[in-house]
Amino acid sequence: MRIAPALLDEVVAHALRDAPDECCGVVALRDGVAVSVHPMENVLQGPKPLGFELDGLTLLRLIDEIEDAGAELGAIYHSHTRSPPYPSQTDINFAGGWPGVEWLIVGTKGAEPEVKSYLITRDGDITDVPVAVAD
Ligand SMILES: [Zn+2]
Repeated sequence: MRIAPALLDEVVAHALRDAPDECCGVVALRDGVAVSVHPMENVLQGPKPLGFELDGLTLLRLIDEIEDAGAELGAIYHSHTRSPPYPSQTDINFAGGWPGVEWLIVGTKGAEPEVKSYLITRDGDITDVPVAVAD
């Protein structure tokens, strides 16, 4: 995706604010360009530094809202606060249900937050996709 610095800052700020818990949310895209960031609540039952869970109904409502605004669900984002920003097996299982939606991960373990994005197929194949930061 292409994302403006101010929107990417919103995603990174959410990750830093919630650390050491994992944060989550979605990015709406229009023609491959990010148009809005929607933080969501991590509803995981259990220690949130270990993972995240989105409320399915909230996500479906959000997708409706995004589509009503003429955009589409472009990416689901979350953070990794204790491991590199690479999809875990849990991520792969989840993302496989959303083919074509980017799986964006903010790694907050290092000195500087690191943002990576992937496409993950139903078969669990992972492809790096570029995050172009530009207005
Ligand atoms: Zn993850």
